[in-house]
Amino acid sequence: MSQYHPLTEAEAIETARSIQEVFPTGEELVCREIGDGNLNLVFHITQPATGRSLIIKQALPYAKVVGESWPLSLDRARIESEALVKQGELAPGLTPRVYKTDTELALTVMEDLSDHVIMRRGLIDGGVYPLFAEHISEFMARTLFFTSDLGLNQQEKKRLVQSFINPDLCKITEDLIFEDPYFDADTNSIEDPIRDAAEAIWQNEALLLEVAYLREKFLTRAQALLHGDLHTGSIFITPESTKVIDPEFAYFGPIGFDVGAVIANLLLNYASQEHWSGEDASRRDRRVYLLNTIRDIWTQFEEKFRRLWNEHGVDRVSRAAGYQDDYMRRLLQDTIGFAGAKTVRRVYGLAHVADIDTIPDAAARERAQRMALAIGTGLIMRNRQAESIEDVIRIAKQAS
Ligand code: ADP
Ligand code: MG
Ligand code: MG
Ligand code: MG
Repeated sequence: MSQYHPLTEAEAIETARSIQEVFPTGEELVCREIGDGNLNLVFHITQPATGRSLIIKQALPYAKVVGESWPLSLDRARIESEALVKQGELAPGLTPRVYKTDTELALTVMEDLSDHVIMRRGLIDGGVYPLFAEHISEFMARTLFFTSDLGLNQQEKKRLVQSFINPDLCKITEDLIFEDPYFDADTNSIEDPIRDAAEAIWQNEALLLEVAYLREKFLTRAQALLHGDLHTGSIFITPESTKVIDPEFAYFGPIGFDVGAVIANLLLNYASQEHWSGEDASRRDRRVYLLNTIRDIWTQFEEKFRRLWNEHGVDRVSRAAGYQDDYMRRLLQDTIGFAGAKTVRRVYGLAHVADIDTIPDAAARERAQRMALAIGTGLIMRNRQAESIEDVIRIAKQAS
């Protein structure tokens, strides 16, 4: 093992060369760094003669944000690798294969998914993914159920909790999702035309109270091993296949945080449709597709989670009459609250989403931002009273 340093391309090639199952023959390897360079390096290594390839992701010991540098623990690379392996075992076929992990160098060598597209890009380009709800509900139901106290022996679960303590990356979420968007923080990046909408949020005491409850759940509820950053930029997709990447924010937290992240990112795309789908009719179709997908995700997630519980529940008392129904109702409420918080943050907090930010026309972009904020705040206000996924559909329709 060598001491940590960012790999050169030559070293990345040498590391790739050692993966015999991908490169059994000795032809030349070519390397290109394709990451966005904020937190991690991503090397794409190909063998032109055979068409074989793999990816090496390496964590950097800092994050570059708004020109500054935040120190970030390299332990997150171990967490990412271990979470990828665990999620791959629990949800076969829905993650990239991991060929090798090196904790000293903070790297994961994994399957190249370049034949898929990042889902955020795919949705912006009008892609339709008929199996997505089935796949992502399967991923979430299996990874979350089998790492919760419902599906895992309590002692084993506590041991697992210990290996996924992730303070640096949790702090990013705690600050950027549950704190900074709710006052005039330097990290916010608010476009001038919507400053009034941000100020209205800062003064909305009832909304701040709901965010305080959501933040408390994120800080204290070690319900299951979350992916922790399950937005559409962490999902590789084709019409036939779904692969979840980038679980460096993994930790034991509230299940609704992952489910809410997926829903929030579909809603952010929904809010951007005036621009991306143009004409009235295609916009209407696109929005129906997105809302149907949200409904399918929740419905299938709930059905699968309940089935796993009934078939694999590890204890007796959790079978008490009414408990499962109440648990699922609270999980839906958490999902809706976290979806709202994730939506608001992406409009004017640190790091927006391309769905809205790349709308070139300022007036259309402002309308998308206001719609996303109306949806996000509507979900946050509704969360503890929510009864059904139809509440989400209604709030989205009312805002559009
Ligand atoms: P970060 O944590 O820095 O966001 P990601 O894991 O999301 O890193 O990867 C950043 C980008 O690198 C992805 O958007 C994708 O373009 C590319 N990438 C990452 N993993 C793979 C992979 N397994 N196959 C192909 N490309 C990948
Ligand atoms: Mg990135
Ligand atoms: Mg990423
Ligand atoms: Mg990441």
